[in-house]
Amino acid sequence: MSYVDEVYQYLEEKNASQPEFLQAAKEVLESLKLVIDAHEDEYRKSALLERLVTPERQILFRVPWMDDSGQVRVNNGFRIQFNSAIGPYKGGLRFHPSVNLSIIKFLGLEQIFKNSLTGLPIGGGKGGADFDPHGKSDAEVMRFCQSFMTELCKYIGPNEDVPAGDIGVGGREIGYMYGQYKRITGRYEGVLTGKGLTFGGSLARTEATGYGLLYLTNEMLKCNGIDLAGKTVVISGSGNVAIYATQKAQQLGAKVVTSCDSTGWIYDPEGIDVALLKEVKEVKRARLTEYAAKRSSAQYHEGKGVWSVKCDVALPCATQNELDLEDAKMLVNNGVKAVCEGANMPTTYEATKYFQDNKVLFVGGKAANAGGVATSALEMSQNSERLAWTFEEVDQKLQNIMVNIFHNLDDAAKEYGCAGNYVAGANIAGFLKVAAAMKAQGIV
Ligand code: NDP
Repeated sequence: MSYVDEVYQYLEEKNASQPEFLQAAKEVLESLKLVIDAHEDEYRKSALLERLVTPERQILFRVPWMDDSGQVRVNNGFRIQFNSAIGPYKGGLRFHPSVNLSIIKFLGLEQIFKNSLTGLPIGGGKGGADFDPHGKSDAEVMRFCQSFMTELCKYIGPNEDVPAGDIGVGGREIGYMYGQYKRITGRYEGVLTGKGLTFGGSLARTEATGYGLLYLTNEMLKCNGIDLAGKTVVISGSGNVAIYATQKAQQLGAKVVTSCDSTGWIYDPEGIDVALLKEVKEVKRARLTEYAAKRSSAQYHEGKGVWSVKCDVALPCATQNELDLEDAKMLVNNGVKAVCEGANMPTTYEATKYFQDNKVLFVGGKAANAGGVATSALEMSQNSERLAWTFEEVDQKLQNIMVNIFHNLDDAAKEYGCAGNYVAGANIAGFLKVAAAMKAQGIV
């Protein structure tokens, strides 16, 4: 049995109840086979893969808080410090009822490779809680965030572990958590990213993941002789990533015709009105029915459906496993040319294979959504320097990083004999740097 298969079998035995983690590990390990096979004895002897897929530290904690009626509630908090070979742990916090150990571990594993691909010195981590901010008052969200940080602050620091936002954790939640960290430790330091602009946040961080997705998509299309301008784009989600992906796609001349949330979706053949979408989602925190009510060209549908819309480019920007094999078949039948993941692992394993088999250009989230964490690392740099760069400076650095990521993964795919397989290229490019650092640092 090959070393890669041995390690996957070991993972299945140890993590039988963690399907998302196994899915992410399988995708990574399979695409690394070419590299691992070439150094099998060396990697097996130093148990490099077993160390890579086993978190350095897993912190699980209780988060008690009181709701507005005086009822005490309890949630589960998580922080997985996965790999610090190339820098302090870095990765978001997710607040969503679906959060569990499997999901946080899958996200943490992906984060190692993503952070490595950015070319910046950041290790991989991820965390969160099974708390649902929807429908909670500001005071409830604040009490929850304070309780969460009261425990988490023991394990993080600007040179140890620097969390950021993710699903359900935006500027409001980061602000409350930062305030509590400062209050407990007495230190004003860059321990979280995604902070408000008045207390150490970076310009362009809010836009970074969505913009970065488009910078990479645009570069990939260009290198394949396709012009994004004039193309029809389908985007899922209506959160942070989706909104700014929609905005940048339109700035680059494409037409984005869909949006969705967890209850329904919009088809707007005139092109999504970003200002209205922002008003509905960022200001009112309302459902997409409000968008449809205010825009005559928009059709609202209950449930899931954006992948049935004919398009040239599809950008899944909502959540994991939101695009399955049936969706992939519809997209291919409708002539999709490229799929780039704004969310983390939104495409199932079978759907990814289907796109690749049907010659659809496909870039996974590890590379395509790395703009968020890259800009978080730029926020860390600004905090360390005690300086603030302009929007244009940060945006320009982001563009350079995303274009470089595309060329690094494209080159790695070519070098290892799988040209055009951008999933393998991203995993290989991300892995080589981390593996070299782990080797140099000995058995730790
Ligand atoms: P948000 O919480 O801002 O938005 C998530 C969006 O996805 C919401 O519109 C939400 O709808 C929708 N959604 C959630 N679950 C489903 C579902 N089952 N079906 C349809 N829609 C759904 O999160 P972000 O935009 O920040 O994150 C989106 C994805 O991007 C995640 O996978 C995240 O890990 C990834 N990511 C985010 C980064 C960032 O900088 N924010 C960086 C890198 C990756 P509703 O409001 O109804 O729940």
